[in-house]
Amino acid sequence: MISGNRDYPAGTGTTSLDLDPFLHALISTAAELTGCEVASILELDEGGEQLHFLALPWFHQDALKTVKVPLPRAGTGTTSQASVAGWVLQNGQPAVVPDVMAEPHHFKGADQAADFSTRSLMVPCGYWDYLAVPILYQGETLGMLEAVNKTEHAHYTEDDLTILETLASQAAIAIQNARLMNKAQHSQDQMSQLDRMKSGFIAIASHELRIPLGLILGHATFLREVIQPDYRSQLDIIIRNALRLKEIIDNLASMDNDQRGVASVRARSISIKHLIEEVMDSFQQEAEQKHLIMRCDTGQADLLVECDSSKIATALSNMIKNAITFTDPGGHIFIVAESISGYVKVSAIDDGIGIPPKDLPHIFKRFYQVESYLTRKHEGMGLGLSISKVMVEMYGGQIWAESVEGKGSNFTFLLPIPSENRDYPVNSDQAGTASQDFIS
Ligand code: ADP
Repeated sequence: MISGNRDYPAGTGTTSLDLDPFLHALISTAAELTGCEVASILELDEGGEQLHFLALPWFHQDALKTVKVPLPRAGTGTTSQASVAGWVLQNGQPAVVPDVMAEPHHFKGADQAADFSTRSLMVPCGYWDYLAVPILYQGETLGMLEAVNKTEHAHYTEDDLTILETLASQAAIAIQNARLMNKAQHSQDQMSQLDRMKSGFIAIASHELRIPLGLILGHATFLREVIQPDYRSQLDIIIRNALRLKEIIDNLASMDNDQRGVASVRARSISIKHLIEEVMDSFQQEAEQKHLIMRCDTGQADLLVECDSSKIATALSNMIKNAITFTDPGGHIFIVAESISGYVKVSAIDDGIGIPPKDLPHIFKRFYQVESYLTRKHEGMGLGLSISKVMVEMYGGQIWAESVEGKGSNFTFLLPIPSENRDYPVNSDQAGTASQDFIS
């Protein structure tokens, strides 16, 4: 009777807490509807060499929980260690056993462990004594459901088989769901572990790098003052690149701090107009060197927001730095601030290279960079915008981008105006109009 050498999956240790009560209810129903003494579910071990009980009636729990049921060994002709359950699992079909005690493949280990006597397994034509059906999910055998010892020495019928197969299909969905959930949980655990390792690495690396970098910057700045003017440009290169390195380290560290929820959130009332002017001042020289025209419109009113000015300055700096980087000489950069329904809206608009539609939804993700020959010429780590997003959201704001490839981009953030400061005149049409002029 036992034959076949089907590929079958090893069990993945189906352990979901929700699964247990469901399978227990299912085997009780199986026993009740088929009129048998015991129904149970078996699945393959991780190694795929043995079966174990996944669901058992309570009175067999202690005795059978640890029992391993062997599989028939294909091709060896060895049957003494085999089991009918294993055959069902390997072949994905109900087994047929007219007389259990005479059946060489009946595994007696479980009976001995549970001090139980399986009288009957399954009979082929018209009446059966033992019913065992595979639990199949999309052609894959996940386990098997068996009903043992029809009460009052009756025999199983076609109806019993249909009942068991129906219940097995429900068990299949439940087991598969539990396995998927376990897998998802496992991947999540691995991700958390990797994240912790990464945070540790960033914390150590940024701390260790900051000290020598501080020394390089300090000494280079000192030397620049005392050295002959001919050599100053060399020192400027050292200082510029050391500052760039410092910026990368600071960005990595602040990103990581925020992710771990250890970023400090300080807030005080700041003038958005002053903040914009300060940030623009720091980029004025760079913009002029690249022959870009940079101007701003912060309206008449001095809009106030509650935040840490250095964090919002970082958010805006990253936007302006990108506008400078991705706009060709002769281009324009326009910074607009206005108040709209309880928010301050700040936009950095450029008429630069723009962003392809396929990349636009991703640019606020960490390490995301647009892969095109135009953008790859520029240095960067794909962190700037994700940091801006973190900084703005930290204060209850929102940030987004609109862009037309080849025409320009409009990066905007909103920050809530504290309610006591909200009665400032609204200057709403300017940003919208300016943005349209630039990128349409
Ligand atoms: P990076 O620090 O590498 O510039 P960002 O997170 O600041 O990373 O930006 C992500 C990507 O978005 C950039 O690599 C660039 O391709 C694109 N990008 C951002 N701002 C602009 C802009 N104003 N114009 C065109 N592309 C931009």
